[in-house]
Amino acid sequence: MRALRWVIVLCICQHQYVDVVAQSVRARAFDAAASVSEQGYEWLAYSSSHIGHRLTGSVQGAKAEALADSLFRLGGLDTVHAFPFEADAWARGSAKLTVGDGRGFLHIPCVALANTPLECAVEAPIVDGGNGLPEDLLRIGDNAKGAALLVNIGLVAASEGEKNLHRSEKAALAMKAGAASILFVNQVTGGVLLTGTASIDGALIPIPAACLATEDGGALRERLSKGELLTARLEMRNTSSRVTARNIIAELRGSEIPEEVILVGGHLDSWDLATGATDNGLGSFSILDLARLMQSMPFPPERTIRFVLFMGEEQGLLGSRALVEHYAKSGSLEHVKCMINLDMSGNPQGFGVGGPAGWRSMISDACERIARIDSAAFEGRTTEEIWLHSDHQPFLLEGVPVIYPLSDLGKHIYSCYHSSCDDIHLVEPGAMTNNVRFVGALLYELAGATKLPDHFTPEELKARLITAGLEGPLRIGGDWPWE
Ligand SMILES: [Zn+2]
Repeated sequence: MRALRWVIVLCICQHQYVDVVAQSVRARAFDAAASVSEQGYEWLAYSSSHIGHRLTGSVQGAKAEALADSLFRLGGLDTVHAFPFEADAWARGSAKLTVGDGRGFLHIPCVALANTPLECAVEAPIVDGGNGLPEDLLRIGDNAKGAALLVNIGLVAASEGEKNLHRSEKAALAMKAGAASILFVNQVTGGVLLTGTASIDGALIPIPAACLATEDGGALRERLSKGELLTARLEMRNTSSRVTARNIIAELRGSEIPEEVILVGGHLDSWDLATGATDNGLGSFSILDLARLMQSMPFPPERTIRFVLFMGEEQGLLGSRALVEHYAKSGSLEHVKCMINLDMSGNPQGFGVGGPAGWRSMISDACERIARIDSAAFEGRTTEEIWLHSDHQPFLLEGVPVIYPLSDLGKHIYSCYHSSCDDIHLVEPGAMTNNVRFVGALLYELAGATKLPDHFTPEELKARLITAGLEGPLRIGGDWPWE
């Protein structure tokens, strides 16, 4: 009897040992294949030179959707389909900023932020709105009414621990305070202009908002501080039309637990000032390559991997909101065990995770094993910091645990975010290769886990969002799910 017990124990141990060895062999085989892959970079370079930007609702955006669909099919994925959704697509026309001081006029280069009026010309006195945070507006009081509010996009001379708000949240606050127009001052030197949505919900805002260079903003501030009275005439013409855009989705069916889905996504769309090579060519084309590579491996993942390229992220998470709404209505959201979002991801050094009990330890154990494959290229850090304004947000607000790669792309890339310099010259092929290597490794870890922890309960989610300081921004954005 005793001998029999030992045989049983030995069998169980050996079975587990074989599993661990098999997992590690699989991880190393995948890593070896991924390490030599630069397909994602080549596809992104092709897209940059043949399509250009990928703005939702534009001809280029539709071409990018078709290209992604073709590349998933070329990769041999089990199922590839488009998820169409309707959206109001804003497109840039012209923007002109003229500053007057009672003696003459000065033209200052600017770009319109997105979802600004289709046609307007607003002249108003310029008022320094600082960083555009609630305390700044409180300080200005009634002076904000009818003003051209000069507001920093970043945080300038802020007190320690101060948290910045998204430009769309600052625009919502400025409008509430009665501003007639908003002049956003960029934080990057060298005359760089930045675009992005000024709307919290994707609808057009009623007042014009434009971005000017940090140097021009600084010069205006200096004149204001000397007591000069300045006016800003902001004229713009834009267009908006109802379009159908498409998220492109591909799936690799799980071999053991196919009904449980690990969703890995990133936005394919980009702004129109350049080609969006880093925001978010880095993430979306890495996902295309990851799908191709995982499909080509001789070992399928145990759980289903769903690859999603979202459109409409830049105009206000339009594609991810539509998809999550569809999943929630059809009851399929519960099958999505977690959402991994690659937005400007490159050379990941670990993963951030927003999930209830069990998720952090699961991800940090996984990171430890992944780091053993190549600790020089992957540190295996984890954090529980959560943030908003990318495609994971609609999933998180429905309680789905979210995960994102921890990247530090460097100042030269972050300076070109949403700007006319976000082009392929910024992309280092190896950064995309490492996306594929380490996000792929995490996918195999999650797919093969005995059990994945749960979604957030509404109470857990509420507590977590409050601790993360996200209640305020979500309320401003009209996205706070509770009273
Ligand atoms: Zn992005």
